[in-house]
Amino acid sequence: MTDVGTTKRKPMPPARRLRIFEAHGGKCCLCGEQIDGAREPWTIEHLICLGLGGIDEDKNCGPAHETCRRDKDKLDVRAIAKAKRVKQRHLGIKAPKQPIRGAGFPKHEKQPKKLTKQLPPRRGLYQEDLNG
Ligand SMILES: [Zn+2]
Repeated sequence: MTDVGTTKRKPMPPARRLRIFEAHGGKCCLCGEQIDGAREPWTIEHLICLGLGGIDEDKNCGPAHETCRRDKDKLDVRAIAKAKRVKQRHLGIKAPKQPIRGAGFPKHEKQPKKLTKQLPPRRGLYQEDLNG
């Protein structure tokens, strides 16, 4: 089981950024494409993110495009939230009760179809024969 939320983040001085960048040949550790450092914003990404028990060592780090990192962060946030729930359950911490969801708006009842065609005027049953 992975421990969560215990890894300390070390500072990322430029020399370390460069070392990690070069260790990966300047390739994005998320999409594998070459990073054009002069044109594309990039960052150092933890291969196993710290929130999921990854270590803050160079071997767990790689350069990544800003855009790739943002996509990964979204997934990581979900994974971290799940890992925290699992850890809490493991430690006997109960999650707060979820509020009971209302039924929402009542279903719109189907109205009977309105007649669009005008019916012909009713004729009397015992209409007198005017020609008679
Ligand atoms: Zn990338």
